[in-house]
Amino acid sequence: MNPTIAYLPPKKINSFYPPQRTMMGPGPSEIAPRVLAAMSLPCIGYLDPIFVEMMDELKSLLRYVYQTDNPLTFPASGPGSVGMEMCFVNMVAPGDKVIVCRNGVFGGRMIENVERCGGIPVIVEDNWGEPVDPNKLEDALKKNPDTKVVAFVLAETSTGCMSDAKTLVEIAHRYGALTIVDAVTQLTGAPLFVDAWNIDAIYSGSQKCLSCTPGLSPVSFSERVVELVKNRKRKSQSWFMDLELVLGYWGNTNRTYHHTAPTNGLYALHEALLLVREEGLENSWARHNRHYLAFKAGIEAMGLEYLVKEEYRLPQMNAVKVPEGIDEAKVRKTLLTEFNLEIGAGLGPLAGKIWRFGLMGYSAKSENVMLCLSALGSVLLDLGYPIHLGHPEAAAHQSYAEQHAAEAARKKIKVA
Ligand SMILES: *Cc1c(COP(=O)(O)O)cnc(C)c1O
Repeated sequence: MNPTIAYLPPKKINSFYPPQRTMMGPGPSEIAPRVLAAMSLPCIGYLDPIFVEMMDELKSLLRYVYQTDNPLTFPASGPGSVGMEMCFVNMVAPGDKVIVCRNGVFGGRMIENVERCGGIPVIVEDNWGEPVDPNKLEDALKKNPDTKVVAFVLAETSTGCMSDAKTLVEIAHRYGALTIVDAVTQLTGAPLFVDAWNIDAIYSGSQKCLSCTPGLSPVSFSERVVELVKNRKRKSQSWFMDLELVLGYWGNTNRTYHHTAPTNGLYALHEALLLVREEGLENSWARHNRHYLAFKAGIEAMGLEYLVKEEYRLPQMNAVKVPEGIDEAKVRKTLLTEFNLEIGAGLGPLAGKIWRFGLMGYSAKSENVMLCLSALGSVLLDLGYPIHLGHPEAAAHQSYAEQHAAEAARKKIKVA
């Protein structure tokens, strides 16, 4: 039989060339040119000794950004959601009690994971836009001393709020529970110390502050999790995410085939991590904070307000309240079509109420801050919202100038 053109789509299809956008949503963020270049290099075998060498470097760079010695630190093949699921399917057996702290969208997904593993979720609720309350966690642990795992989101991307991971992990350990921490938006955007904070299992995503191609999920597991996995009586219900099997490939000796590694994505992650290594982790955190401060100055000069109290804010994820009478979707649409600028909408109960401005990774730079303030001001003015033209930009410039002066003064003291 010959193929027929009847199955061809009716329109002519050309090669796909996406437009250049300024990416200031909740991820994906912009990808640095060096990372894009790395992705376009030739594919080699996933057991090629040269590839294996690159994997080892990748693992050590991941240990650096996670600040951990955990040997079991590697990029899971799949988006952040796969890292999430890998933690739950390996650490939660049917009948296990798991406390999930929910203060946004992603905590809700953790509950879904517990249920699908046959676990019994105990939910600690906090308002969206507020951090997880450590006292509520402690109360829940007192009432449920048989809790096996405590799970929470360190950086809630849906609200722009950061929780106190160190304290939450400490409390969980006091009651003998292991911890699963979502650091998808936190990693390299703000401080995170996996070993010093004693985190047991943590996952992230490649497309947020790492500014890499979407679809990879760096994970890290402590020796306590390795013990749990070795001693479990029942196989994990997931074949693909079973840590024991995955380790056959990502472990230290005798690598064997488990699934075909996403080779070019891994080249990209290697390069993205190298960029962080070259910049320095603390400089990466400081850069995210610097641009947040300038952006905040501009947002406040427009008379707009943040959702989250200042002390709990994520510098890399700015949730800003939509002013009364403004059609928030229209603003986002105009920013995209007229300024090539993507920002994020509110989710769940915050839909229509906030915008989310990401300043993540390669997107955390002054040209994005200035473009966004200027474009947003222009669109809002058009919709009848009173803006003093030029004031937000001036406030941001002022913030940069003050920060530069403070930095110069600090350096002077250091030298002297
Ligand atoms: C983006 C995100 C995820 C999911 O990552 P995907 O790569 O979209 O699967 C999970 N948790 C948080 C906090 C996120 O921001």
